[in-house]
Parts: sequence; C-alpha cells; structure tokens
Amino acid sequence: MKIAFIGLGNMGTPMATNLVGAGHEVVVFDLVESAMAALEKEGARRAESAESACAGAEVVISMLPAGVHVRGLYLGADGQGLLDALGHKPLIIDASTISPDDARIVGEAAAERGLSYLDAPVSGGIGGAKAGTLTFIVGGDEAGFEQAKPVLECMGRNIFHAGRIGDGQVAKICNNMLLGILMSGTAEALALGVKNGLDPAVLSEIMKQSSGGNWALNVYNPWPGVMEGSAASRDYQGGFLTDLMAKDLGLAWELALKTRAGVPMGSQARNLFALHSAQGNGGLDFSSIQKLYRAGEDD
Ligand code: NAD
Repeated sequence: MKIAFIGLGNMGTPMATNLVGAGHEVVVFDLVESAMAALEKEGARRAESAESACAGAEVVISMLPAGVHVRGLYLGADGQGLLDALGHKPLIIDASTISPDDARIVGEAAAERGLSYLDAPVSGGIGGAKAGTLTFIVGGDEAGFEQAKPVLECMGRNIFHAGRIGDGQVAKICNNMLLGILMSGTAEALALGVKNGLDPAVLSEIMKQSSGGNWALNVYNPWPGVMEGSAASRDYQGGFLTDLMAKDLGLAWELALKTRAGVPMGSQARNLFALHSAQGNGGLDFSSIQKLYRAGEDD
C-alpha cells in the first residue's frame, strides 16, 4: 500500500519505520531535514512537501505535536490546506493527541470534500512505537475503521474503536489525565518515603506488591536508579515530554470546562506539570515531575 506519513518526531519516526518494515511504500514529510534523512535510510522515500508526499497515497497518516499543527496542515492558515490537495480521496488517519473539537473540525472539513477522516491517538510511548505495540484509540465511522485496521496493526497491538470522530481523543485525554495523576502521586509517595529514610527501590517494591501499585510505579518508576532502562535512570532524557503531558492535561481541563465535568485531581496534576515546565523542565520526560518533590533536598 502507498502511505504518506507526515510528522517524524519521537513517535512518528519509529511508527513510519514499522510501516516500511511491514512492506508498505512509505513517503515521508517533516519540517526537519534530518528526520526525513533518517527515514530514507530505513527505506522510505522523502517528499519536498506534505502535498507531494500524499500524491497517489491510499492512506495519509499524520503525527504532529498539537491541534494547531493538525489544523494548520489540513485546513491551512488561509483556508487552503492539504485537504484540498487530496482529490484522489485517500483515507486520513491523524494519530496526534489534540482536542476532540479540533478533530471534529478537521473531520467535518474532510467530509465536506468527500474524504474519510479518523482520529487515532496512541498510547504506549516511544517504547511501544519502536516495538510496534502501540494502542490506537480510534474515532470515526465503521468503514474507515475497518479500512485503517490492517495499517494500524503494523504499528500497534490493541486497536480500539471508541466511537465517532473526536471520541478517540476523548478516551485518550481521559487516559492521560489519569496517567498524570498517577505519576505525580507516585512521585509524591516516593519522596515522602525517602525523606523518612526509606530506600526508594525497597519502597517501590513494597508499593508495587501492595494496593498502591500502578502503571507509573510498576513500569515507569520516576526515581533515578530504581528501574533499569527507565527515563529516570537516564537523567529523564527522551520519553514522553513534560510539555506534552502539560498539553494533554490542558486538553482534559478544557474538555471538563466545556462539558461541566469536575476534574479536581486532573486540575492539580495540570498545575504541577505546568509549574515543572515553567521551571525549565518541559523538554525532560514527564516522570521528571519527581524533581519537583526533591527541590531543596541537598540544603
Ligand atoms: P515531536 O515533537 O517529537 O514530533 C512532532 C514532529 O512533527 C516534529 O518532527 C515536527 O518537525 C513535525 N511537524 C510539526 N509540524 C509539521 C508540519 N506542518 N508538517 C510536517 N511536520 C511537522 O512529538 P511526538 O513525541 O512524536 O508526539 C506526536 C504526538 O503524539 C503528540 O500529539 C503527542 O502528544 C502524541 N504522543 C506522544 C507520545 C510520546 O511518548 N512522545 C506518546 C503518545 C502520544
């Protein structure tokens, strides 16, 4: 299948690489030259623009940072975006995490042009993207979902159909709000134990086997040196950035405000990650929220 892939960042690069590995003809585009060069080495073809990457493609996949980039790509700043260059009607799959409203705006504009659009945000992080074990949470019609499934299966293991366009984003936002709460809660508990003389590895093991066990503690431990291979053990480099978590918690807050849902814990997590980012940690993995609880430790 001929697939256009737009957005070769931390996630897009391994996802596009897996599509090449599965035997698809992949044409890539990113604003960053070196990202395209890396994919070329993996066997993809690079294009000079998003429009030329999509020429003749049966499926268009985008993996961009935020809603502003997705709207900018498909709708264009002046109302002339990529959607107007897709006369051959490929299936569009946007895997970025954006607001449900942004997904619906782009989805409706696609439908007006007779194009099928799915929002398909992912869970599983860079590790899952590399291993091809991502979870895709898809919003859109049944026919589009069935058409997308074999393509998504080249990059992921669990492919869920959440509902209509935008519903994939709602589910993803709920998941990441919970993850932000769990990560900050885990960091808080570890800091309290260490402050009181416990070994973080011993405390982690105790909580893992007790009722405090959770994904952040069990597989993404935020304390450096406790878990081999974790972002915490490599100085919080790479992984899922603090700024992206802050963005997702902002999306949860906006959604809650719009639908009059109470999210006191999500709001607290949003404040913590926003503060952590404001202190210059936006480019570190989100488990670096642990540092916020360790400030002044050596005083
Ligand atoms: P990233 O910032 O590493 O990559 C984004 C890429 O998009 C960059 O290479 C950038 O140059 C490119 N880009 C931006 N605008 C473009 C345009 N108009 N045309 C072409 N390329 C453009 O981000 P990421 O970590 O890969 O995340 C992508 C999305 O996936 C985000 O919405 C994020 O919230 C979500 N996500 C990330 C993770 C993670 O662990 N990093 C996990 C799950 C979901």
